[in-house]
Amino acid sequence: MNPSRRRACLQLAASGAALGSSFSGWSAASAASPTLPVFDAHVHYSHDAVALVPPAQAVEILRAAGLKGVLVSSSDDDGTQKLLAAAPDLIVPELRPYRTRADTSGWTRDEGIVPYLEARLAKYRYVGIGEFHLYGADADLPIPRRMVALARERQYVLHAHSDIEAVNRLFAQWPEARVLWAHSGFESPDRIRELLRRHPRLWCDLAYRSEHAQGPRVDPAWRALFDEFADRFMVGTDTFTPERWHYIGPHARSAREWIATLPPPLAEKLAWRNAEALLRAQAPR
Ligand SMILES: [Zn+2]
Repeated sequence: MNPSRRRACLQLAASGAALGSSFSGWSAASAASPTLPVFDAHVHYSHDAVALVPPAQAVEILRAAGLKGVLVSSSDDDGTQKLLAAAPDLIVPELRPYRTRADTSGWTRDEGIVPYLEARLAKYRYVGIGEFHLYGADADLPIPRRMVALARERQYVLHAHSDIEAVNRLFAQWPEARVLWAHSGFESPDRIRELLRRHPRLWCDLAYRSEHAQGPRVDPAWRALFDEFADRFMVGTDTFTPERWHYIGPHARSAREWIATLPPPLAEKLAWRNAEALLRAQAPR
């Protein structure tokens, strides 16, 4: 990459601007030298991302961000398999019930989802099923129930982008489930605390949220939550559009900035230990 191009990329990444399809030439150079390892527990590599950022370049971005592990799910699953083949030491695969991005809204009533899941589960190994979008009483529809049963047969984690009601319904179906609550449900610290107290096998990712920290300053209400549930939080970028692959490096840097202000044992848990403990135990060998 020539110097002016590199500078432009750095400026755009830093400013948070969307870059459209201008990924060519973007590389490891835009990541700061990492220190604290980070496990990114919320990455998607869907069909449009594969087209925009080829697997070798995607792995370069992940490694340049100083990531220790990456929980990846994709619509369709081929993207996850491509990344896993390119970096088996780094990628931790989960299976989402989506063949394309369009399944995000209609999957709970789509008869084609279960055969898709069954075919992938027969062919590949994962640590979880998700991230899926599931709200309220829809959690008890036949197709989500079948998905939960498939996860249960394999003791896979459920990665749920859900409201509180759906989380409660998932645990009602499978009390011993391990549920990773995507975005901590976009809920307030008080309501997250309530749910974490109710469900000892609930974990939370902080993907695509910013209230918990501004720069290095950790919000006091969130700090109290992290202290009470030190073993149950993890960080993630959420690359829900291909352009968000640009934020993987900046996200890891900003996570390190606030996490580094915490006592080292807590910092390590939030940065990577909790994700490793939840997600690596069943990772494919
Ligand atoms: Zn997501």
